Parts: sequence; structure tokens; C-alpha cells
Amino acid sequence: MGSGIIEFKVRTSQREEFVDITPLVQQAVTQKGVDSGICHIFVPHTTCGITINENADPDVVTDLSETLDKLAPAEGGYRHKEGNAPAHVKASLVGSSESIFIEGGRLCLGTWQGIFLCEFDGPRQRKVWVKVIDD
Ligand code: ZN
Repeated sequence: MGSGIIEFKVRTSQREEFVDITPLVQQAVTQKGVDSGICHIFVPHTTCGITINENADPDVVTDLSETLDKLAPAEGGYRHKEGNAPAHVKASLVGSSESIFIEGGRLCLGTWQGIFLCEFDGPRQRKVWVKVIDD
């Protein structure tokens, strides 16, 4: 991947899993040496997503996961015959990107916030693309 996009790979270990990728994203920002700017994060997949939420209490992402299960249950009378329709629905619900400001070379996240890769059809190896823009 050229043109200033940093790619890192995340190996998930479960069917459904929220992986805190905040340190990896911060590492990409540090690698670019940008003091003030914006960091775009994107996952090029249709059955995983990116979200920002609390990373202090792990029950929060468990609640998120269980609520998504209610919205897109395993047996939902879906048309997509690959067997992973709920994963596609959940991926669209959480979205495939986030943008975060950078100041002082650090991601401007709230005290309790972390960036999560949301795996809905694992385990797999996932790609995360990061673009850091200097303002
Ligand atoms: Zn599918």
C-alpha cells in the first residue's frame, strides 16, 4: 500500500470480538511525526467495522456486542446465503471508519475512549488502513 496509507494487520481469534487498536493507531501517528492534524482509520472489509467507545470497563463492549446480536440475530430470515448476513448488518451499523484529531502528536480521545476493531465474522486476519493528515 503506497501513497501514505499505513496498513496494519489484526489477527482476530473469535467469531465476534472487539479488539482495542488504540495503541496501534497511536503508533502510526507517531511514525508519521505529525504534531497537529487528523487521523483517518478505515477497514476495507464488509463483516468487520470500527467504533470508538469505552475501553476502561470491558463490560461496555460486551453490552455493545450483545445488543448488536439482538438487532441482527443469528437466525433472522436473511436472503444472503453465505451464512454471515448478521455480520454484514452489524458491520454497517458500526461503520467502517473513524476520524480523530491529533494535537501534540497524540490522538485526541476522551479519557475513557478507545478505538476498537469490531470483528463480526472471525477469526480472520483483518487490514486496518490509517491516513494521517498534517494541518
Ligand atoms: Zn457474506
